[in-house]
Amino acid sequence: MTLHDAHNHLQDGALAPHLERIAATWPDLAGTSGCMVVNGTHPDDWPRVAALAARYPFVRPAYGIHPWDAGAARPDDWLDQLRAHLVANPQASIGEIGLDRWMLDTARPDDPRLSGVRRASMEEQIATCLPQLDLAAEFDRAATIHCLHAYADLLPLLRAHRRPPRGFLLHAYSGPTSLIPELVTLGAYFSFNPNFLPPASRPPAKCNQIGYTLPDALGPKLASFAKSIPSERLLCETDAPAMLPPQHWRTHKLPPALDGTPVNHPGNIEAAYAGLTSVRGLENTELSVLVAENFNRLFGN
Ligand SMILES: [Zn+2]
Repeated sequence: MTLHDAHNHLQDGALAPHLERIAATWPDLAGTSGCMVVNGTHPDDWPRVAALAARYPFVRPAYGIHPWDAGAARPDDWLDQLRAHLVANPQASIGEIGLDRWMLDTARPDDPRLSGVRRASMEEQIATCLPQLDLAAEFDRAATIHCLHAYADLLPLLRAHRRPPRGFLLHAYSGPTSLIPELVTLGAYFSFNPNFLPPASRPPAKCNQIGYTLPDALGPKLASFAKSIPSERLLCETDAPAMLPPQHWRTHKLPPALDGTPVNHPGNIEAAYAGLTSVRGLENTELSVLVAENFNRLFGN
């Protein structure tokens, strides 16, 4: 079976001590054509993303400024650098970009995930996001979008602005189910993150057995993936080293970082596939073929 991780951050320092091993085991785990889209978050980490893509054939590089980094200092020529990365590699896409109201309205001032982050206003975030979306449209490369509690801001932008003809990815989609039909029309793909699975749930005992017992009321995130998202727009992701799956679903474990932050292993893409087969009621091989077609349509070149 071929597995594709549509969204991770292999360049992140938290994965650096484990990189060799992750890379050595990836082809066994994901198949020889299994890829991962490795997303930069700021011009500082773009060279590391490019180096990974040069070294490992399974890495599809993506370059972008994440909304959490929209308030950080950046070189004046950042857009030229971004363009140069797209020119240099026809497999490169744009990501991770997006909008985040959670960090402005909901996150605690001392949330460790945001330590050292200057939280950019929504205006600043939009001003950073739009030129990146423009480049994705100009080159017709996929754009990977992070949107947290900000669909009321993102949707008007997507409606009014030019978008890549091939589409864009809403990673770890957690927006309202009711928005999905319009987002599909605008070109959205949606990647399932196993972090959404109920904490007490377990994967099916056997590889090809469909389904764990789903709770009666699926949360809105799972409900979107169970029914509302069309099959031809589904993808799977880990967001590693972030967004650990619930305990019982983790097939790959890593020790926490030195500061105690949990570290997710990209190999847990297995949990994304196992979880989505359960949520969607598909066979493993069926989902693998479907996701590979979708992945190649959006990220292939
Ligand atoms: Zn991410």
